[in-house]
Amino acid sequence: MTYDPNNVFAKILRGEIPCRQCFTNEFALAFHDIAPAAPTHLLVIPKGGYANFAAFVAEASPAEQAGFWATVATVAAEAGLSDYRLITNNGGDAGQTVHHFHVHILGGKPMSALLP
Ligand code: AMP
Repeated sequence: MTYDPNNVFAKILRGEIPCRQCFTNEFALAFHDIAPAAPTHLLVIPKGGYANFAAFVAEASPAEQAGFWATVATVAAEAGLSDYRLITNNGGDAGQTVHHFHVHILGGKPMSALLP
């Protein structure tokens, strides 16, 4: 999928629209989801423009990928979470609505089984 630089997360990265930021470094930005599905619901996005998980794995450098995933763990730990769920929806049929790769961190309550 072609990356659209006008997606909402690209605008957040450029500071064109606000977010409730909780962490940033050279690899990633983390902020609170605007419609939380759990007591803690954070989104972690890479600084580079990748439309989805598959594009991130195919196109991002090994350093970007390693830095991103390490940042996901840091963000969860800094949020005080030891137990949490990571989700990334890859493509529209999987439920992806914002086409800038992102990982959801969900926690703060016992989770039910995954939906089919
Ligand atoms: P997905 O459906 O996996 O693409 O997830 C997109 C997520 O982005 C949803 O959980 C939305 O609630 C969230 N979201 C959309 N716009 C914003 C925004 N401006 N700030 C924070 N979260 C957002």
